[in-house]
Amino acid sequence: MIIVLKPEATQENIEKIKKDIEKLGLKVWVSQGEFRTIMGVIGDEAPLRDMPLSLYPGVEKVIPILKPYRLVDREYKKENTVIELPSGVKIGGKEIVVMAGPCAVESKENVLRIAKAVKKEGAKVLRGGAFKPRTSPYSFQGLGEEGLKILKEVSEETGLSVVTEVMDPRNVELVYQYADILQIGARNMHNYDLLKEVGKIDKPVLLKRGISSTVKEWLLAAEYILKQGNEKVIFCERGIRTFEDSTRFTLDVNAVPLLKKISHLPVIVDPSHSTGRRDLVIPVARAGIAAGADGLLVEVHFDPLQALSDAQQTIDIQEFKILMEDVRRIAQVMGREV
Ligand code: PEP
Ligand code: MN
Repeated sequence: MIIVLKPEATQENIEKIKKDIEKLGLKVWVSQGEFRTIMGVIGDEAPLRDMPLSLYPGVEKVIPILKPYRLVDREYKKENTVIELPSGVKIGGKEIVVMAGPCAVESKENVLRIAKAVKKEGAKVLRGGAFKPRTSPYSFQGLGEEGLKILKEVSEETGLSVVTEVMDPRNVELVYQYADILQIGARNMHNYDLLKEVGKIDKPVLLKRGISSTVKEWLLAAEYILKQGNEKVIFCERGIRTFEDSTRFTLDVNAVPLLKKISHLPVIVDPSHSTGRRDLVIPVARAGIAAGADGLLVEVHFDPLQALSDAQQTIDIQEFKILMEDVRRIAQVMGREV
C-alpha cells in the first residue's frame, strides 16, 4: 500500500501514521521529497483494510497494491481448475458442458421427458429449480423437497448430473443430498452466510453473478466459498441490469474472457436469463461459447408455452437441437469439444 501525504503534512502526522501501522506488525518506509512525502507499507495489506487511513491528518490518498481476493486469482493457481462430476463429466477442461432443463421442476413426467430429450442432443447436466427465487410472492415458488426427489430420480434414470438452486443456508444439507452441483442464484450472490455454508461442502457450486454486481464483487463472493475450503466453484454470467430495458438483462460478454484471465475457475454463460427472450437465446449462447465460456446453462421445455416459470425465455427441443449444432461448430473453431 502506498500513502501519499498532503504538502502540508507535518512530521508529527507522519510519525502517528507510521506508529499505528507498525502496531499491526507491518513495516513502513518513508520517502520525503522536496514537496511531497509518500509512505509505503510492506507486508500483507489485509489488517490495514479496516483502518481508516484516508482520514488521518496529512493523508491525501491511499493506493492499495494487493488485490482483495487471493484464492480465486490465477496468480495463486496458474492452471485451470477442472471440476469432475461423479458422472465423469469435466467442467473447465477441453469439453464444453451444456446444462439444460426447465426453469422449475414441474412434475416427474415433464422433467423426465425434457431430460431425455436434452440428453439426446448432448446435454450433460440437467437443470431445474425446486426452490425458486421469484420476483413476485404470488408466482409459482417451486416444489421444494418434492422437486429435489424428482430431480434425483430423473438423474438416476437418465445418467444426467443435476444442478439445482439452494436459497437458504438452512437447506444446504438437504439440497446436498440430491444435487451434484449446488446453484447460488443471482439474488443470493451477496448472501455471505449462504456462501460460507456452501464453502463447507465438497460438491461443486455454480455461482451466478448478482444482478448489479461488479466482476470484483463476484470474485469476492467466490473467494468466500474457496476460503471455507471448497475450491469447486463455477462462475455463471447470467446478465446484469443496465439502462437498457429492451431485454430482461444484458449479458456482459466481456466478463467471460476477463474472468478466464483473472481466475483459474471455470466460467459458463446463461443465455436464458440474460436475454429473457426465447428468440435471442441461440445467438447469445453462440456468443458465450465464442467468448471462451466453458459451458452453458439453458432453459428448455418440450412445450415452453406451458412452462410454469420463465416461459418467455424457454426454448423448445427443436431449438435446443439447433443450439447444440451451433455450439458444436463454434467449439471446433475454439479448439474445444462438446
Ligand atoms: C435460474 O437459473 O433458475 C435462476 C433463477 O437464475 P438467476 O438466479 O440467474 O435469476
Ligand atoms: Mn428461470
